[in-house]
Amino acid sequence: MALMIVTDSCAACDACVPECPNEAIAHKKGLYVIDWERCTECVGFYDEPQCAAVCPIGATCIADPHHPEGREELMAKKQRLHAAEGMR
Ligand code: SF4
Ligand code: SF4
Repeated sequence: MALMIVTDSCAACDACVPECPNEAIAHKKGLYVIDWERCTECVGFYDEPQCAAVCPIGATCIADPHHPEGREELMAKKQRLHAAEGMR
């Protein structure tokens, strides 16, 4: 399941952006948004979602109920993303 940022509580601190191994977090018009098609919950890179780990505001990076995915699907997404980009 991808993560999503609760924009009402986001402090726009920018801490999560450089931590994402999939470049899934964008800063657009003052809002931080996770592209669910690029978010793998950090599967394949880290044991826990890095955006949630570094976010200073609790419960801001949360599971996105609109995009349920299991670990195998997330790993396949990770491999697809990085194979296409010639990365990692
Ligand atoms: Fe990026 Fe990981 Fe957060 Fe998803 S959970 S947006 S892959 S840092
Ligand atoms: Fe917002 Fe948290 Fe990301 Fe900072 S780390 S920009 S508060 S979601």
